[in-house]
Amino acid sequence: MDSHLRSFLDVPRDSHFPIQNLPFGVFQPKQGKPRIGVAIGDLIIDLSVLEELGHFRSPEFQDQHVFSEDSLNAFLALGRPAWRKAREIVQHLLSAETPTLRDDAKLHARIFHAQKDVLMKLPARIGNYTDFYSSYHHAHNVGTMLRGPENALMPNWKWLPVAYHGRASSVVISGTDVHRPQGQIKPPDASVPVFGPTKSLDYELEMAFLIGPGNSLGEPIPIERAMDHIFGFVLMNDWSARDIQAWEYQPLGPFLAKNFCTSISPWVVTAEALESFRKPLPQQEPEPLPYLRGKNDLTFDIHLEAHLQTSSMDSPAVITRTNFQNLYWSVAQQLAHHTVNGCNLQPGDLLASGTISGPTEESRGCMLELTWRGANPLKLPNGETRKWLEDGDKLTITGWCEGDRYRVGFGEVRGRVLPVV
Ligand code: CA
Repeated sequence: MDSHLRSFLDVPRDSHFPIQNLPFGVFQPKQGKPRIGVAIGDLIIDLSVLEELGHFRSPEFQDQHVFSEDSLNAFLALGRPAWRKAREIVQHLLSAETPTLRDDAKLHARIFHAQKDVLMKLPARIGNYTDFYSSYHHAHNVGTMLRGPENALMPNWKWLPVAYHGRASSVVISGTDVHRPQGQIKPPDASVPVFGPTKSLDYELEMAFLIGPGNSLGEPIPIERAMDHIFGFVLMNDWSARDIQAWEYQPLGPFLAKNFCTSISPWVVTAEALESFRKPLPQQEPEPLPYLRGKNDLTFDIHLEAHLQTSSMDSPAVITRTNFQNLYWSVAQQLAHHTVNGCNLQPGDLLASGTISGPTEESRGCMLELTWRGANPLKLPNGETRKWLEDGDKLTITGWCEGDRYRVGFGEVRGRVLPVV
């Protein structure tokens, strides 16, 4: 339906950022302060300049200047009417049919920046970060390793979207190196724990969404209104230290095994851009309780990959191929569940999916599953093997929706493993 849209800018067909996408992010040019932009092809259009020129004088923006800010938070707080309007305005201005920017060559140097020349920043000041556990196959695989196939899923898993509160301060932007964490580890054959660097560093392929207006304390968001609060989506790598996790996680869940670093991609793909890629949510059995039942609940067809490049490889190898549709719980259900007790979500909060594994071996979203806790090491194309991530390894997660002769992509989230500080 969007395939007829064309920009006056040249955008290659396999670009993640055609005029159909228009994701929002925070960037800092070589000279100047961070501000908000939208990615188009290899370029960024500077929304702070468009705002200065008066293009966003519309009631949805409530006379606020949100695009010269160094985070999306003020824009997120404005809600879906402003998000839709901003997208419409930028899409119109970038269209091949609109002369305003197309024919004003003098303005181009001021409003367009090459992505390769700027520094991308975290898209939001993230006040709170929650990580769900919503892929059936991930939960089933991990549960099988811990408790055997008969008791793989805990009794609550199909009744509620299980989650834990993560740590917001260590969420970092793509490209940030991750140092191998140290901690307490109890080897299976030892009677007491030892202290040292993790020997089982892992990635988790996830997606996450940013919260818009949010709710007041004590006022749940009903599932039918969930999408009013979901601005858009990023890719996420939830770096994990499996040996630290195994020793610490009972009875309160993950702590130091997860909060040393969580990486996200810089461009936030809006719910509007994903509209053409909606899919019905697969049947849930047993039927969830009424507060988790949305009349038109949905998911999205998003192809996802993880790539690994060791320091002796010339190019990365694909180690995971999966899809967002492998999630059992929808984002609307996650949000409705998160607020059902009155917990207040705030603009810029980050809610993540949990590792997105599918039914096949290739679709497993972390090393823990791919190597079955190290029992079947991964064989890489250059002959190397990996049970876990080693120092110097680069891990990249990418993803996109395949349209009719265009892609709505998420770019990538990448990080390199460095030795213990
Ligand atoms: Ca996780």
